[in-house]
Amino acid sequence: MIDNYNILKKISEEEIQQQVKKIARDITNEYQNREPVLIGVLNGVFVWLASYGSKNVSSGEITLTKDIELSIKGKPVIIIEDIIDTGLTLSYLVRHIKEGEPESVKVCALINKLERREKEIEIDYWGFEIKKGFVVGYGLDYNEKFRYLPYILSLEIKD
Ligand code: IMP
Repeated sequence: MIDNYNILKKISEEEIQQQVKKIARDITNEYQNREPVLIGVLNGVFVWLASYGSKNVSSGEITLTKDIELSIKGKPVIIIEDIIDTGLTLSYLVRHIKEGEPESVKVCALINKLERREKEIEIDYWGFEIKKGFVVGYGLDYNEKFRYLPYILSLEIKD
C-alpha cells in the first residue's frame, strides 16, 4: 500500500453520479435521432493507448496497442476518456480518429486535470476540473491501487 500521500480533494459518489447524469442528458439532447459511435480509451476505459508505465508521470510517448475495429466513416464519434492530463493522448487520438473520416469528433472526459496541460484541446463534455494532484478512484489507479474506490481522490504523492 502507499502510505506517503496527502489527500488534496475528494469528489463524492453522489457528485460523480450527478455529473455523469448531466453529461448523459447533454449528449442525449445533442444527438437526438443520431447514433454516435462511442470510443472508450482503455486502460482507463479499456486500453489501447499507454503513456504511463507504472509511474505517476506520463512518459509523453503514446503507443496504440489496439485500434478500433469498426468503420467510423461518416459517423458522429464521441471519444470517452477518464481523465485528461497533458492532453498528449487525446490529441494523438483525435488526429488518429479523424483519419477514419468521421462526420464529427467530440470529446467527453470525466476529469479535466489542468496542472500539466501541454496540448490545447477542446473538451466538449466533462465532469470535473481538478487543478492538481494525481487522481485515483472510480476506475482510476495509481500503480493498480485505489481503482476500486467508489469516489475520487486527488493525491499529493510523496516519493
Ligand atoms: P495525458 O496524455 O497526459 O492527457 O494522460 C492520458 C492518460 O493518463 C489518461 O487517460 C489516464 O489514463 C492517465 N492519467 C493521467 N493523469 C492521471 C491521474 O491523475 N490519475 C490516473 N491516471 C491518469
